[in-house]
Parts: sequence; C-alpha cells; structure tokens
Amino acid sequence: KNSITQILSNLGIQELNPAYSTGSQWGGSTQDKIIESFSPANGEKIAAVQTATPSDYEKVIQKASEAFPLWRSIPAPKRGEIVRQLGEELRAKKNDLGTLVSYEMGKSLQEGLGEVQEMIDICDFAVGLSRQLYGLTMHSERPNHRMYEQWHPLGIVGIISAFNFPVAVWSWNAALALICGNVCVWKPSSKTPLCAIACQHILAGVLKKNEMPEGISSLLIGNASGNLINEDRRIPLVSFTGSTRVGKIVAGAVASRFGKTILELGGNNAIIISKEADLKMSVIGAVFGAVGTAGQRCTSTRRLIIQEDIYEEFKQKLIGAYDQLRIGDPLDQQNHVGPLIDKEAVRTFLEAIEKGRQEGARFIVEGHELTGSGYESGCYVSPCVAEVENHFQIVQEETFAPILYLIRYKTLEEAIALQNGVPQGLSSAIMTLNLREAELFLSAAGSDCGIANVNIGTSGAEIGGAFGGEKETGGGRESGSDAWKGYMRRQTNTINYADTLPLAQGIKFDL
Ligand code: NAD
Repeated sequence: KNSITQILSNLGIQELNPAYSTGSQWGGSTQDKIIESFSPANGEKIAAVQTATPSDYEKVIQKASEAFPLWRSIPAPKRGEIVRQLGEELRAKKNDLGTLVSYEMGKSLQEGLGEVQEMIDICDFAVGLSRQLYGLTMHSERPNHRMYEQWHPLGIVGIISAFNFPVAVWSWNAALALICGNVCVWKPSSKTPLCAIACQHILAGVLKKNEMPEGISSLLIGNASGNLINEDRRIPLVSFTGSTRVGKIVAGAVASRFGKTILELGGNNAIIISKEADLKMSVIGAVFGAVGTAGQRCTSTRRLIIQEDIYEEFKQKLIGAYDQLRIGDPLDQQNHVGPLIDKEAVRTFLEAIEKGRQEGARFIVEGHELTGSGYESGCYVSPCVAEVENHFQIVQEETFAPILYLIRYKTLEEAIALQNGVPQGLSSAIMTLNLREAELFLSAAGSDCGIANVNIGTSGAEIGGAFGGEKETGGGRESGSDAWKGYMRRQTNTINYADTLPLAQGIKFDL
C-alpha cells in the first residue's frame, strides 16, 4: 500500500485530479462529475478525476490549434529529439508507470512493464523515422519538369483509446503523430484515467524542459469529449482504438465531415493447430493467448481450430495446462491471470457462457466468478474452454474475457475458411512444421487478417510491424512499417524549369 502511494506521487497523481491538461497547465472544476478509479486487483479506490466540460474542451482545442503552426515549423529531426527525451523519461519511470498500469487496469506486472517497454520502443522507432518520412520522386512526361511527392502534417490528431492498453496505444499514436508534425489531443478510457494522467505529466515535463508552448500534447478526461472530437472539423484525424460498436459511431461521424480515421477495433483471433504442429509449443501459445491479460487483448486467442487427428490429444493437454493456472493479484508475479477490468466485465463473461451453453457449447473447462480471500474486488473469473461450432452467434462475437472455443477441422482449406469465417480480421496464426501449410496460410488464399503468424500465437505484436486488422477490425494500421503515412497528408508537386509551358497529355493551348 505504501509503495503504491509513493508510485502515485512519483507519477503526479493526486487524490482529486483535474479534468484536462494542455501540457503543464491543468484545469477543470466539475466537482459533480467525477470519475473514481478503483483497482480491479483489490477493489480499493486509487484516486478520482474530474471530467472535462464542453468549455474545457474548447480551451484544449484552442491551445492545440495555436500550437500546431509552431510545432510543424520545427524540423522533423528536432521533433524527434523531443520524442527521444520522452523515451528516456519512460525508461526512468518504467517501474512506476508499469506498476500503475498493472494496479489500475489489472494486467500482470510483467505485462504492465511490457506495455511501458512498448512505449519506449515506439519512441526509439519514431526518433529514427523523424529523419526519414520519405516521399518518392517520379519522372515527368514533360521535358525539364520535376515531379515528386512530400508528406505534410495534418494538424490536430484526436486519440481515443481503450482501457486494455491504457498507455501503449497512446504512445503508438502520439510518438508518430508528433514526429510527423501534428499536435495531439488524447481522450483515454474512463476506466483507466490515472494511467493517462501519468503519461501526460511525463510528456508535459519533457516539452516544458524544451521550452515548448502549451497545446502540443493535451488530455481530456470523460466520455463527453469523445463525441465532441468525432464532430470537430478542426480535428482532421481521429485515431480510435476500442470496440467495433463504438468504432462504427466514430467512423460514421468523422466520415460525414470528411475527416480521416485510423480504426483499431475488436478481434476474434484464431490459431489453426495442424497435425504437423509442435504440440508443446502450441499449448503454450494457445494458453498464453487465451488467458494473458485475462483475455482482454484485442489479439487474445478466442478460437482454436484443431485438426481432427490430434484433437483429443491436444484437448487433454489443454485441460492439463488450464489446471495449472494461478489466478490472483496481478502484482504477485506467481500468478498467471489477473482480474477483469470491472464487475460489468464479469457479468459479460458469465452471460457469454450462458449464451454459449444455450447454443450448444460443451464446456470442458468450466468458467465462473471467483469469490473469497484475494478475490474481494469481485473482478476475478476462472478462464474456461468450450467445444463449439464456428457459426454459433456467441463464437462470431468478441467477448472480452478468457473464453476459449475449440473447433475441429479435416483439411487446411476448411480450417482457413473457419478462421476467416467471422466478421473480424485482426490476428491469426498457424502452428505447423509443414512448409506447404505455412505458405498456404500466408498466401492470398490464406488468412484474411491484418496479422498472420506461423508458430507464434495471435497475441501481442512487435512495434516494428504495422499493427491492425481488416473487416470489422476497422482497417487501420498503427505503429511500425509505413503506418506513419496515416498521420500525414501527401502532396504531389510538379516543377517546371523550362521556358515554355507544355501541358500534360500533349494538350495544345495557344493564345
Ligand atoms: P470501448 O469501445 O468501450 O471504448 C473505447 C473508447 O471509446 C473509450 O475511450 C471510450 O470512452 C470511448 N467512447 C465511448 N463512446 C464514444 C463515442 N460515442 N465517441 C467517441 N468515443 C467514445 O472499448 P473498451 O472496452 O475500452 O476496449 C475494448 C475493445 O477495444 C475491444 O473490442 C478490443 O478488441 C478493442 N481494442 C482494439 C485494439 C486494436 O488495436 N485493434 C487494441 C485495444 C483494444
């Protein structure tokens, strides 16, 4: 308890925190609309935060609008230097921030620290990128003409994030958006406001040390600001991470004003387990994928599609592995599985089990709510496994909890059809030592997901690759590869250094 109090103080968290920040300045006065943050680990109240009013929102957007012309005029490598310093601060605060993530969100301490490591990694990546941001040069069809393209910043980037990666998702967006010359306004999940406040303090400190103005990175607490961001023409790009249900609302509202979106929505990720798989590796990949972060990753493994010849053997191994799971306090490194985010998530988990049973699911590992000593917060459940058919309604949906569905297959073509036979398209994997199977799975006739792995589970990703998925996952890409292009606008430039004006396509126009 003492160490948590110390950590909160190190990270600038107060008992009652302000509703918004434009950098070093914090404000808000809505004493009546307060979000209290409780730890799902032990049910204790951590701290409270006021929520931003429409007039707070206006102040934030005003400051961001003022900051943009200055920030975009700073050379990209110099903006990169500021992001480098952010990475250094995150290194120094990794333990404190990782512990807060674990305590407020409920993921294991290792995963909390891993999340901060991802933030550090994306900062390093963005620093290198700040000397790149390449455009192409093309050959003009006209003599003495040069044609090329360049990438310019967009303006204010709205970042709306989910509870399950309460710090990393912001950094994936902010590190790239900032080196690209944009300013950021972040509306985090109301379930994890303290993690966001801690991040804002860290970046604001770096910006202040570099004598940067207010408005380069801002924070708005509370759901009301979400809708305001969606509809605000001053925000050319909204990067949204969350459920498909809310993503549809955001996508519709932003598209109707011709704004851009990066949508990172729900997944329904499967691993195909071939009869030629390394079964030991497959069990580890499947169990970590299904129960890691208590099944609350967008890339969590929800379905195992298992070849019928090894189905029974694999099922027994899986049951054995589930037997060994230790569920409890996420800060205790002995435990494999922590709590769900809140009691509502527990209800959703129990309802999904019930719905599955009604559709014919056979549970081979039962799931239930855990009570008693160590589980006082009411947020702990025991992960479960059910034999199902892919077309069951509940299997087609993403339940954000540790429920794993088993499905049988005969041929790889059938397995791929099952894997692709859901509305979502985020992460997918095949476990096989057979090259032909692996290559078919990765081919155009294979997985339809944004992420397709061989001999690695579905869960988690490195920042170097572009992250995101197809279909109801929203089509957005963040993080590595050329995802930075999503934060910029492309401009094609043609320069005539001739003393005549030849028109394109040979058109003649003489006066
Ligand atoms: P959620 O959709 O309930 O909330 C996400 C964010 O949207 C929150 O900040 C919330 O306050 C905000 N919001 C709610 N209504 C809004 C509105 N009308 N306009 C704008 N913003 C609004 O999601 P959640 O429960 O926090 O997170 C879990 C979901 O996120 C899962 O579906 C998971 O798969 C998905 N997720 C996806 C990725 C990815 O990269 N694909 C990563 C993490 C989480």
